[in-house]
Amino acid sequence: MPELLEVIELGNPILRQKAQLVQDVSSDRIQHLVDNLMMTVKEANGVGIAAPQVAQSDRLFIVASRPNLRYPHAPTMEPTAMINPHMLAHSDETVKGWEGCLSIPGLRGEVPRYQAIEVAYTGRDGKQHKQALTDFVARIFQHELDHLDGIVFVDRVESTQDLITEREYQRLFPG
Ligand code: ZN
Repeated sequence: MPELLEVIELGNPILRQKAQLVQDVSSDRIQHLVDNLMMTVKEANGVGIAAPQVAQSDRLFIVASRPNLRYPHAPTMEPTAMINPHMLAHSDETVKGWEGCLSIPGLRGEVPRYQAIEVAYTGRDGKQHKQALTDFVARIFQHELDHLDGIVFVDRVESTQDLITEREYQRLFPG
């Protein structure tokens, strides 16, 4: 049975480490971690979660865009484990959009990200994938990839003026 994992928060040094490449995707440890992350991100109304957020310094994350309480307008997709992910190419264009983070509760920021990217990753079945992502899903990928390099969204805002609290965010953009 998958179990809910504790999400660590900003200030925990693990969030600032560079995560390690996953050597054996088929190992019980990695397969259980994927199951537990999938359950944890769903329960927390997240659209993505990276292994360092549950104190596991492995290069893997889940992208699980779907409308929920925290992101009512998110597109729906099958939750996907992306292992040893990287960006192959990106658009010149960047767009600013609102982000939050399960490891930084109560805060939202308007963050510039590439509008379109081409990515590669290993799936939980060990197969290699290449994919083009755009807009919100591309944003999730870039946010999660940053977690694997010890970067969080507050590092990416153009100005601290682009940070607001969750409560004011809900007031500005009522679901
Ligand atoms: Zn995050």
